[in-house]
Amino acid sequence: MSYTVLVFVKQVPDTQNITGEAMKPDGTVNRAALPAIFNPEDLNALELALQLKDRFGAKVIVGTMGPPAAAEVLRASLYRGADECILLTDRAFAGADTLATSYALSCCAKKYGKFDLVLCGRQAIDGDTAQVGPQLAEKLGLPQLAYVEEVLELGGGKIRIKRTIEGGYEVLEAPLPVLMTVIEGNHPRPMNAFRIMKYKRARTKSELARDHADANYTDAEFLAEEVENLAGRNLLIHEWSAGEVNAAPDRIGLAGSPTKVKTIQSVVLTGGEAKSVEPTDAGIGGLIHELIEDHTLG
Ligand SMILES: Cc1cc2nc3c(=O)[nH]c(=O)nc-3n(C[C@H](O)[C@H](O)[C@H](O)COP(=O)(O)OP(=O)(O)OC[C@H]3O[C@@H](n4cnc5c(N)ncnc54)[C@H](O)[C@@H]3O)c2cc1C
Repeated sequence: MSYTVLVFVKQVPDTQNITGEAMKPDGTVNRAALPAIFNPEDLNALELALQLKDRFGAKVIVGTMGPPAAAEVLRASLYRGADECILLTDRAFAGADTLATSYALSCCAKKYGKFDLVLCGRQAIDGDTAQVGPQLAEKLGLPQLAYVEEVLELGGGKIRIKRTIEGGYEVLEAPLPVLMTVIEGNHPRPMNAFRIMKYKRARTKSELARDHADANYTDAEFLAEEVENLAGRNLLIHEWSAGEVNAAPDRIGLAGSPTKVKTIQSVVLTGGEAKSVEPTDAGIGGLIHELIEDHTLG
């Protein structure tokens, strides 16, 4: 049996380099101001999917919701071993909170059709909420296994995994299809030189149209031929809009987001702020009170 594994990955701003321009006045992230990287734990999720492919036979499909530039993380996934990619992109998705993001991803999974496993990273380093995976499982009506480190067994319509917990580890089993969130720990394989040579030409339809425009090609028929040619060579990255995945307009983007990110800033602790606390109940109690007072806690 060959399994179908959907992996959702996110292109994130490199939050190690937050600058003043990081936020737009409407509270959304100014992606152009920050270098974009592959969300680290999504590399672990992709690696787990590729290990399932090596061990049990599987087709690995990688999807991302983001601006056109997010196609970069899809090409990086193809270079590592993914078989097919989906870019979910539409201005209507912009400014989404986790509720709207997980809804959009659920529409994408439903449009893709039949799958046995959905993998997500535990969390993204920008929003840091770890909410999208569990929310997506709910929207797809799937059992979920969170903080997965290792797959022990896969077969007979079920999966058995191992995860670390305080003071030890747990072994859990779930029926397929299932959603799993993956934590760091495995060693994502590097991009493969041969695959880079093959898949560096992988394009979305919009990227191809842009390449044509840059080369002053205006022939729509020629563009259509090229799209078909790329598809025939498995180099076409699917590009789906909100309409193409039947997403309800009031459930996506800013419109579908009850949570609004007001502002973000770098917190840089300077040496001067260090403070010694008496190792007594009163000392600790005083510190906790202070942290609650200045909203560091609670
Ligand atoms: C500083 C900051 C704070 C925020 N705080 C909140 C908040 O409190 N509540 C809220 O609802 N929103 C918040 N957001 C918005 C939130 O970042 C977005 O909704 C985002 O798309 C998903 O949330 P996350 O980044 O926390 O992802 P997480 O829930 O941490 O992501 C978990 C996994 O879901 C998958 N995933 C997440 N986003 C995508 C995507 N676009 N495409 C494909 N797979 C994806 C990946 O596998 C990822 O590893 C915040 C954003 C920022 C920048």
